[in-house]
Amino acid sequence: MAILVLGGAGYIGSQMVKELVNKNEEVVVVDNLSRGHRYAVAQQAKFYEGDIRDTDFLSRVFTKESIDAVIHFCADSVVPESVVNPLKYFDNNVNGLIKLLEVMVQFDVKKLVFSSTAAVYGMPKTMPIKETDPTNPINPYGQSKLMMEQMMKWAEQAYGIQYVALRYFNVAGASLDGKLGENHSPETHLIPIVLEAAGGIRDKVQMFGNDYNTRDGYNVRDYVHVVDLVHAHYLSLAYLNNGGKSDIFNLGSKTGFTVKEIVEAAREITGQKIVAEDAPRRGGDPDELVADSTKAETILEWHPEHTNLKTIISTAFEWTKNKKSY
Ligand code: UDP
Repeated sequence: MAILVLGGAGYIGSQMVKELVNKNEEVVVVDNLSRGHRYAVAQQAKFYEGDIRDTDFLSRVFTKESIDAVIHFCADSVVPESVVNPLKYFDNNVNGLIKLLEVMVQFDVKKLVFSSTAAVYGMPKTMPIKETDPTNPINPYGQSKLMMEQMMKWAEQAYGIQYVALRYFNVAGASLDGKLGENHSPETHLIPIVLEAAGGIRDKVQMFGNDYNTRDGYNVRDYVHVVDLVHAHYLSLAYLNNGGKSDIFNLGSKTGFTVKEIVEAAREITGQKIVAEDAPRRGGDPDELVADSTKAETILEWHPEHTNLKTIISTAFEWTKNKKSY
């Protein structure tokens, strides 16, 4: 029986495939290559290029392969883009999940691990954020993921599909050997942008907004290493395989850093001069998002090993230098 990784050519999905094949699992990957890369998919995995909204395509994959569980990474995830183009998010994310659930029901596949996001919380009143805190998204990306969580809840009741939704905080870093990492065009995420500036690939970093309600005016995010993050999916599958009930978990580090602190840490860790300037706020950004991940630690037995700025920045910097050759 195989594990189907949707979006397995993307930044996080490709790290997931790597972990699964290293653990000798049979892995099938589906990706439409809109943001992912064929080179990123481990050779031991079977690859199908296509879009999950194409039900005929997806049904063909489920017909050919014996799928036991699905890990779903293939969604749009750029907050400012979602503010400008919300319907793209409701189509690719929400509509994509409807199609996936229909096919899972048809083929009687009952286990789903799902990428959710801290953006479902909106502007939380207390930090760190717990899973039981209110959800009130302030951008279409967060709204689409909350709708998807709610759809899975009803699909569980109606069709018995058990799911784990993992609410990611800010995912960063690269594989520990620096050979697999984030490669978006255009890049929008803070850490790869800062490291491109460190590596001479871009001139400067723009720091979006210096008047947030935080310790230095720049907004605060909780950065989690991608290798730790994908391991939480592996543990979630084990949890479902052991009869665990559908549930939602935060994945973060309980520690937040401001945009300016990230730039300063990157200067120190890389030894490079990084030019950074203040720029207007982006749309849809809350002041602060920091996770309380106690629930994942307790129930999934998730214990992050690489989630510290030194490892995140040094692995991502190594990758930034390597990716020039791709
Ligand atoms: N950010 C920034 N400059 C950039 C990219 C991002 O100041 O070039 C800020 C952004 O406003 C946010 C934080 O960095 O506060 C993290 O943004 P990112 O896009 O990496 O992740 P998001 O929080 O949107 O998922």
